[in-house]
Amino acid sequence: MTLDLNDDSRWRRLHDASWTCPCCGESHGGLFDIAMERPGSCDADQPLQPNSALDGSDNILTGDFCVVDGEHYFARCVLQLPVVGAPETYFGWGAWSSLSKANFDIYVDTFDQGAQSDLGAWFGWFSNTLPGYPDTFSLKCQVYPQDNGQRPLIELEPTDHPLSQEQQHGITLDRILELYALTGHDMRDALSA
Ligand SMILES: [Zn+2]
Repeated sequence: MTLDLNDDSRWRRLHDASWTCPCCGESHGGLFDIAMERPGSCDADQPLQPNSALDGSDNILTGDFCVVDGEHYFARCVLQLPVVGAPETYFGWGAWSSLSKANFDIYVDTFDQGAQSDLGAWFGWFSNTLPGYPDTFSLKCQVYPQDNGQRPLIELEPTDHPLSQEQQHGITLDRILELYALTGHDMRDALSA
């Protein structure tokens, strides 16, 4: 029998616009991404600046770009995990990948044109330590730039690391709710009530 999340009352409640989350008081209306604001190697006190502030400085953090010590280059990406029991549905980690300087420069130079999907894939190192997994920092990945201002997608090298396994085989609703709980949104009791 194939699992169908529409049979799971927690899933239906999460998508119910009239159900409000006990953590933030808002209707989530379904899944939401968990975002990492900066690469793991970027100083926590580095201020977040607009993309337009990118000016060749050695240390800068914006919503989409990061440079550390003038020699490490990063792009803000999305790592999508297919959801078990919900076709065409993905849970997303907003996370960072390193890029070579050459690819970073191409990414930045073409950023405002909106047509970038033919430029990749680019090699990168996954650059965040995600909660809820054995260390995810420096997993090998491919970065696929997208069109229309969508953030690049990360595809991890297929290995037996749990994060790679979830990207290959899917993530369950229970795991997603566990990850939400680890990042300040423990909705488990309320969704099950
Ligand atoms: Zn919430």
